[in-house]
Amino acid sequence: MTTDQSHDELHAMAKRREVRLVPGSLVNLLEFDLASLTAFCELLGEKRFRAVQLFRWIHQRGCANFEDMSDLAKSLRQKLKGVSEIRPMTVVSQHISSDGTIKWLFDVGGGNVIESVFIPEDDRGTLCISTQAGCAMGCRFCSTGHQGFSRNLTTGEIIGQLWFAEHFLRKHLQRDERVISNAVMMGMGEPLQNYAALVPALRMMLDDHAYGLSRRRVTVSTSGLVRKMDLLGLECPVALAVSLHAPNNTLRDYLVPLNIKHPLEELMPACVSYLAHAPRDFVTFEYCMLDAVNDTDALAIELVQLVKHYGHSVSWCKFNLIPFNPFPASGLHRSKPERVLAFARILSDSGITTTIRKTRGDDIDAACGQLAGDVVDRTRVAVRIARQRSAEPAAALLAATTVAKV
Ligand code: SF4
Repeated sequence: MTTDQSHDELHAMAKRREVRLVPGSLVNLLEFDLASLTAFCELLGEKRFRAVQLFRWIHQRGCANFEDMSDLAKSLRQKLKGVSEIRPMTVVSQHISSDGTIKWLFDVGGGNVIESVFIPEDDRGTLCISTQAGCAMGCRFCSTGHQGFSRNLTTGEIIGQLWFAEHFLRKHLQRDERVISNAVMMGMGEPLQNYAALVPALRMMLDDHAYGLSRRRVTVSTSGLVRKMDLLGLECPVALAVSLHAPNNTLRDYLVPLNIKHPLEELMPACVSYLAHAPRDFVTFEYCMLDAVNDTDALAIELVQLVKHYGHSVSWCKFNLIPFNPFPASGLHRSKPERVLAFARILSDSGITTTIRKTRGDDIDAACGQLAGDVVDRTRVAVRIARQRSAEPAAALLAATTVAKV
């Protein structure tokens, strides 16, 4: 294969993987799941097992330098350097909460930043991952929704959040074994609106040669793109969470505008159908508790009726009640704790498993997406300044962090 042919092929591959490349630029190997990396290695005239070795170096060991990949032949390392690189996103800032929660902002170019949040708990370490820069869904209680949509993230930008967080934490906590046990696509963006880039990233999360997470520990959260829910169930069934937030179409149309296109009569059957493929025998419904908007006893009772209407019993779903993180543009307020408890009791008393999400990282920002929105509002010069100021020594900051063994 000539060099020109090789570059043409690489560009064709890059197009299929939705990588934005300038001619002559290097392919970012973070974009490739194992199948694509295998095809890439074959294009370079290498055997398939080389792709597995390379994949492990990148994802299991967090290696970004070909020279350090000691079991790859020198000639292969040279070849790889000529056409590819492992290019992580730039960290704009890092905020560490007194409760151990860590929020990173990553620069994805064009003045856009995205957020990832690591949440350590006694029995797990969860990374909340963004799938889009901004979001087009416009949910009323969501700071990201108020910022509008910039663009879809690439596969490499989605998996790059896990790549960075896992290996950063391992290094600074001096852990050899896995730190992040759960991945949830609940950061900025509607994951299923970026389906083509999402699925290869999910496959990498599940791949034993990469992060090896079980399907039960990888969760996609959607506001209700029902056709894509069906497709996900067939192609890559991971745990499903659905942003419900209301028991009827009138209120849901207001809170989650996507409901006008896909009302509850479409969404609820799609949730039930997903269970045929799901790794868990329930769907999680997220319900953001908004003072005097969706938190009354009457609405809780209506919610129970909705669940009963679509299932033989109420055990096909669980509810996660989420305290609202207020932000000025929303005009909404957080439900009082006693109201949340009363609402939860009605669901629980009817047999529905109901949890109330603990608020985490309150001291490092408020609503999800708010920090990124603040940064995007500034000029790109200010972003650069923010980057320089982010130089809090990570090791010192992490000394205050406790991460449970998983
Ligand atoms: S809640 Fe999710 S889908 Fe709705 S606007 Fe926010 S990021 Fe988008």
